[in-house]
Amino acid sequence: METTFKPVETTLQTGYRRCSRCVLDTTVSDIWFDEKGVCKYCHIHDEMDRRHPVETMDDDLKKIVARIKKDGAGKPYDCIVGVSGGRDSTYTLLMAKKLGLRPLAVHFDNGWNSEIAVSNIKKATSLLGVDLHTVVADWEEFKDLQRSFLKASVPDADIPTDYAIYSVLYETAAREGVGYILNGHSFRTEGTSPISWTYMDGRYFKSVHRKHGSGSVRSFKVMMLPYLLYCSFVRRIREVRLLEYVDYNKKKVDEVLGRELGWVYYGGHHHENLYTKFFQSYLLPGKFNIDKRKTELSALIRSGQISREEAVAELEASPYEYDRSVVAYAISKLGWTLEDWEEIFNRSPRSHQDFQTYLPLIRFLRWPIKVACSLKILPHILYLKYAS
Ligand SMILES: [Zn+2]
Repeated sequence: METTFKPVETTLQTGYRRCSRCVLDTTVSDIWFDEKGVCKYCHIHDEMDRRHPVETMDDDLKKIVARIKKDGAGKPYDCIVGVSGGRDSTYTLLMAKKLGLRPLAVHFDNGWNSEIAVSNIKKATSLLGVDLHTVVADWEEFKDLQRSFLKASVPDADIPTDYAIYSVLYETAAREGVGYILNGHSFRTEGTSPISWTYMDGRYFKSVHRKHGSGSVRSFKVMMLPYLLYCSFVRRIREVRLLEYVDYNKKKVDEVLGRELGWVYYGGHHHENLYTKFFQSYLLPGKFNIDKRKTELSALIRSGQISREEAVAELEASPYEYDRSVVAYAISKLGWTLEDWEEIFNRSPRSHQDFQTYLPLIRFLRWPIKVACSLKILPHILYLKYAS
């Protein structure tokens, strides 16, 4: 079974090309380059930067915070913050409190939390005096969901968790009558995950589960289009990416979080969750030739935190490192023998295009979506990433 644990060598295919500005390359199947060799995702970054200019960041932040406070007046909470114990979400929670907001922290426990993550969440919420609402997944049900995406042989195998978090945040916001979900994502430091690497919608979620899983989902709501439209247009729930309004430097943030909240780093982007660690450090590079470090490094190049040369050197110095004990633990926890896993791992890679999704509809409705994004009813990245 040794071979299964070893990611394949990243070979330079015929026609290989790397963006002249960042480190995204033709391992991203939906990438394109302009005449200067600058990629689609650098263009998305520039468009987002035009919409969130650094020069007006402080004023924009004051306006959005004032609006959140006004809309939440008289309610127990004025915003929802999803927390994972990771850097971005913990810092979002800290920022929310420092800005005088009254957040409710929401955590979805998919059964794979590391001890560090659990401890980080407890320390942050208790030190900041924030109520914590935790939704614990039914393990058998969630295991079936994760197995179904792995059996489907798609690179979006972390979608059960991402989708569940998204759903739990919207459901909680709707139930509590809260209009704002503060999101710990920033295009400046995390980048935009390529659509061929990560795709997510309710129709896709159901399509994969129907074909490769069993039973129904009870731990959280699978949000189909009507419910999303209801949340966006009737309940007027908005996502706010708070970190896009501040100068977010990861090293400085780590120091602040450690000093103020006793926060502890867990050794890799999103590695606070053991399944994500298994998925990101081992499955994606080994089976799909996807190295997610490229997304984050590219974002840091674009926002001037590192040079392209440093990023290339980091990527070429070593492949994505993974922990063999985490891989063995994950396979066993998912209820597979190494022989079972060998067969699943060796299935031909597929993509969201092999399943039913909302993507054709999103592209058909791109102009109404563009208008809704311009009016800030929907996040603009939705249009840029999926519909443009
Ligand atoms: Zn680029």
